[in-house]
Amino acid sequence: MGLFSRRKTNFVDSDVLVIGGGMAGCGATYEARHWGRDLNIVCVEKANIERSGAVAQGLYAINCYMGMQWDENQPEDHVRYARNDLMGLVREDLGYDIARHVDSSVHKFEEWGLPMMKDPETGRYTREGKWQIMIHGESYKPIVAEAARKAATKVYNRIMVTHLLMDKSKEGRVAGAVGFNVRTGDFFVFRAKAVIVAAGGASHIYKPRAVGEGMGRTWYAPWSSASAYALPIQVGAKMTQMENRIVLTRFKDGYGPVGAYFLHLKTYTENAYGNEYESTWYENTKELVGDYVDRHPVPTCLRNHAFLEEMKAGRGPIRMVTKEAFQDPHKETVGWENFLGMTIGQAVVWASQDIDPKHTNPELTTSEPYVMGSHATCSGAWASGPEDYSPDEYQWGYNRMMTVDGLFGAGDTIGGTAHKFSSGSYTEGRIAAKAAVNYIKDLGKDAPQVSEDEYENLKTEVFKPLENYEVGRNEIVAGTVSPSYLLPMHGLQRLEKIMDEYVGGISSHYMTNEPLLTRGLELLGTLKEDLDKLGAEDLHQLQRAWELQHRVLASESVTHHTMFRKETRWPGYYYRGDHMKLDDDDWHCFTLSQYHKETGEWELEKAPVYHIVD
Ligand SMILES: Cc1cc2nc3c(=O)[nH]c(=O)nc-3n(C[C@H](O)[C@H](O)[C@H](O)COP(=O)(O)OP(=O)(O)OC[C@H]3O[C@@H](n4cnc5c(N)ncnc54)[C@H](O)[C@@H]3O)c2cc1C
Repeated sequence: MGLFSRRKTNFVDSDVLVIGGGMAGCGATYEARHWGRDLNIVCVEKANIERSGAVAQGLYAINCYMGMQWDENQPEDHVRYARNDLMGLVREDLGYDIARHVDSSVHKFEEWGLPMMKDPETGRYTREGKWQIMIHGESYKPIVAEAARKAATKVYNRIMVTHLLMDKSKEGRVAGAVGFNVRTGDFFVFRAKAVIVAAGGASHIYKPRAVGEGMGRTWYAPWSSASAYALPIQVGAKMTQMENRIVLTRFKDGYGPVGAYFLHLKTYTENAYGNEYESTWYENTKELVGDYVDRHPVPTCLRNHAFLEEMKAGRGPIRMVTKEAFQDPHKETVGWENFLGMTIGQAVVWASQDIDPKHTNPELTTSEPYVMGSHATCSGAWASGPEDYSPDEYQWGYNRMMTVDGLFGAGDTIGGTAHKFSSGSYTEGRIAAKAAVNYIKDLGKDAPQVSEDEYENLKTEVFKPLENYEVGRNEIVAGTVSPSYLLPMHGLQRLEKIMDEYVGGISSHYMTNEPLLTRGLELLGTLKEDLDKLGAEDLHQLQRAWELQHRVLASESVTHHTMFRKETRWPGYYYRGDHMKLDDDDWHCFTLSQYHKETGEWELEKAPVYHIVD
């Protein structure tokens, strides 16, 4: 018995267990109550749902709104848009399903008090772009959280979920989850009939541009720690498109968003010498991807590609031309408010660097890669689709159920559906919850059973880093260095270095190839072995330890997927130097993986892409 296994264990029974109370988790919690009036609905969140997840500090725009009431767009249009941006590869059934329901979610946000910008003459929401509407969104997350809080039987804040539990009575069926309270250290066993994973995307698996003291400054939320992928991967759920990591072009050093600048303020980019550069790279890009470069709008990755090539040609920095637009006082106000409502850090960076965009055109940069399923890329779990719309091959029961029985997902968790953003993630949470409630009703008395052995073993495993530290600190040789343990921060930096140098990060201009990936996997293998020796001096570090475990498993998945897809489908996101061209003959398909925990082996396969919308 370990030193820390005497910790208190709390048991929580639920019908629907929602893991992660961000946008998708709040949507799932809210909707589960609608369909399951008398059900026990529990939401568990490692922070506090009031201000957790990628929307924590607010947003200035809702990026996915059809506007069907005014006949602005139809769901099919959104499918075409996402398909085009992802170079052909999206789950059209899932995307359509979100698009047809997303407007109703946005209308609820307004009803609950979210201030929307409106055209005073038409009464319509102000459009930032074809899909985006503008909001005064500092309090977006608290508003959405309030509805979830009222709907839930109970919300458990400050509990980090580390593992899912499997049913002892039926193989391949989920039965709940375990985790620990990051403040009290209590261990929690959540028993559930259905589980919805909505734990966000993954930052900090690649070395960020800002290191040392500034390493928290990343584009994606630093607390998005890949649990959304690791939890299902651990129990054998299939993943898809994990190679489809995202790289963002953003304002330098603060990662301030550029969408409102391009779309609303009509600013544009130029190289260091004041020249337009995208057309310079047209022929080069066409060589790589063929006609995809002629699509409208030009896919996001290809615009990154032109940016990167121009930088490599020595004509950087690339700047956003703001000096013209900012002469208009209205545009100047919008430009600043855009940051104050969602990325206040960018305003602070500009102030600290003496950049007034009215007089100086600010620099842009490309970010380190992130893994996510809700923004402009679509990594995540392979999920069953809606029964009225999906081809048979994409359907095995309940909408948004993964390949593990009773395990559902939404938002960044689910793969194949890019461009859902905050509103689409929320909507997907609602869709998943409705299906989960149906699943529970169909279960009848056949409820899953958790195994005492399983959760007791996990309890020992979860607290082991505290024990490693307690024992190993007696051997500290200097500062914090002990020969017996690895601190979470050291493990994280090792992971980021491996991913950066071998799996196409910033230091290699996002380039990789088979030999690099092979070596990367070897190094990830030794890192994984060392994770048994993680040492945590307190509960905060214990959380960091488990976040690292999740990040490493997700990184392994990304590396295997990147190795499997022998083409460069998305130049500007990453390059396979040994297969530099897009290859529609062999790779117009999804990549799927499954992890076998007992052997540590990964199995990869292809799945067809069905084009359902013309
Ligand atoms: C910088 C940035 C700008 C964006 N801009 C826009 C925009 O302008 N408009 C727009 O519509 N969308 C925007 N988005 C996208 C939007 O924020 C996401 O699409 C959305 O938040 C995804 O929802 P989610 O529920 O999957 O993840 P999140 O909202 O991130 O929620 C995940 C939740 O899971 C919790 N969690 C994670 N791991 C665990 C664990 N192990 N145990 C318990 N809880 C856990 C997290 O704390 C978090 O609360 C932006 C995102 C970012 C990062």
